[in-house]
Amino acid sequence: MKLVIAKNQGFCFGGKRAFRIAEKSLKKDPRPIQFLGDILHNNEVMNHFRKKGGKIVLNLGRVFGGTLIISAHGAPFKILEKARNKKIIARDTTCPFVKKNQGIIFDLAKKRYKVIIVGNKHHKEVKGLQSFAKNRALVVENIRQAKKLPKFKKLGVISQTTQSLENFNKISEILKKKAREIKIYNTICPSILVRQKELLEIIKKVDKVLVIGSHLSANTKRLVEISKKQGFPTIWINGPEELEKYKFEKKIRLGIVSGASTPDYLIKRIIGQLNRYD
Ligand code: SF4
Repeated sequence: MKLVIAKNQGFCFGGKRAFRIAEKSLKKDPRPIQFLGDILHNNEVMNHFRKKGGKIVLNLGRVFGGTLIISAHGAPFKILEKARNKKIIARDTTCPFVKKNQGIIFDLAKKRYKVIIVGNKHHKEVKGLQSFAKNRALVVENIRQAKKLPKFKKLGVISQTTQSLENFNKISEILKKKAREIKIYNTICPSILVRQKELLEIIKKVDKVLVIGSHLSANTKRLVEISKKQGFPTIWINGPEELEKYKFEKKIRLGIVSGASTPDYLIKRIIGQLNRYD
């Protein structure tokens, strides 16, 4: 078996940062340490935090003290203020790229632009972004939805950090015809773009692609979609246990890419398993 392993693997910058902040908090901060949902979309990572005493909470309703860890994907507007009012120590792991986008949306809404977020409306990052626009934001996932929108006076268009560039560009083109004035912000994360580009290069050199990352991870899903869209045989696994379901020919050339919330140690374990085919 020949493995072609992507250079851009493992946690992205925001993932590393969130992991570091959470680890430090678990060591030093007042208990209980409460995670506001999964701070990174990876079960292994969240189980690691649970083993160290972390608890997952879905909102602040039952949080009365201790420490609150905010996700790398961000959180709804004013969550930090609410935590402060309840005397909860907050550790904010919101990725600086996401934070910047929250600021852009806040400013656009203040200047009375209708804000269009190109992304998945169920994703935590998008829900958080939407809250920064008060009632002035709509989420658009695809071209069909973009075409259905009415005309606007002033439109601000921004992307979820894990969008595919192709989808964002196509939707932006449609929206240009729907507003008298439009501001377009391509806020796709550079770490995501670089992985998507590398995947397209790897596809040229291999017979099959193995994508490693949580089934909840938007950027991992995007890698799978991009690969499949090229009509390429693609396997998506969350971790080593799922690899056992698949059989590989000895002479196969296998490309390996991973989502931005997949820890290095998981990838190494999977590569170790694959090397046994030789
Ligand atoms: S993928 Fe990009 S935006 Fe998301 S956490 Fe990583 S660095 Fe930040």
